[in-house]
Amino acid sequence: MAISLDSNGPGVQDYYCGTECTWCDGCGDYGIMAAVKRALVELKIHPHEVALCFDIGCHGNASDKMLGYRIHGLHGRIIPFAAGAKLANPNMPVIAFGGDGASFSEGVNHLVHGIRSHYPMTFVMHNNANYGLTKGQASSVTWQNQPMNISPNGIPEDTLQSMEFIFSLQPTFVARSWSGDIPQMTRVLKAAIQHRGFAFVDILQACPTYNKFTSHEWLLEHCFDANEKGHDPSDLEAAKKVAFDTTDRVGCGILYQNEDHPTFYERLKPREGVKTTAVEEVKITDVSGLMKEFI
Ligand code: SF4
Ligand code: MG
Repeated sequence: MAISLDSNGPGVQDYYCGTECTWCDGCGDYGIMAAVKRALVELKIHPHEVALCFDIGCHGNASDKMLGYRIHGLHGRIIPFAAGAKLANPNMPVIAFGGDGASFSEGVNHLVHGIRSHYPMTFVMHNNANYGLTKGQASSVTWQNQPMNISPNGIPEDTLQSMEFIFSLQPTFVARSWSGDIPQMTRVLKAAIQHRGFAFVDILQACPTYNKFTSHEWLLEHCFDANEKGHDPSDLEAAKKVAFDTTDRVGCGILYQNEDHPTFYERLKPREGVKTTAVEEVKITDVSGLMKEFI
């Protein structure tokens, strides 16, 4: 990934935006966005050098709470937008953000094709296991017997085994972290941004207003850093074991990374040997002669 390295680099204050925060007190979004800023600053990426693409959801309100080239998209549709931006300008780091609702329901098709296409971009999933913006409905990853606002008896559907689903798509980067561990999120996000292909980052997010089952305290107690315990992200079978088995504790960190798989661009025959980017190839075309034919 080409990143413009300015030896001076930005500071966290360069990402500051004065728009008032509307997140609830104690929302995990505060920690996640702090880690995103820290990761970008530590990689010396300035706000004008990065595309930040937000889906609909509580997290999406970050689109006016930090600087950068920002887009706030349609529900579930942020991955194709972000992929298009990246393919148009492969020199630009592109980070897309989505919730568990949009990622595993409305936009699940885009997540499938984002991963299998190996678009060279980062996808950060704010996983608070509910639809927080619309007042706490169950998502497909809400625990089955968990009473929620419009499903007080729990949901009748099975809970989606999200990591089994993700690994079935043959990803090249899978990480998991949680919203109270800013140093771990920063480390994971830096690796994700520098990854050559599609980086999937699942961040378990505290939502104290509507998620009463995986509270900040629960996450603090159950999450552990698998890399610190010796987990090797190049070992696919070990990665699946850590990712799938959350019975007692939840393994976090960089779970799996494969840098050898070609990315979408590298397999795109028409771009072979082309040194310019699509945005550099766009020219202003005089269409006045053409228009005269219709006058
Ligand atoms: Fe955060 Fe939940 Fe409040 Fe949304 S509803 S702002 S996710 S605490
Ligand atoms: Mg959610």
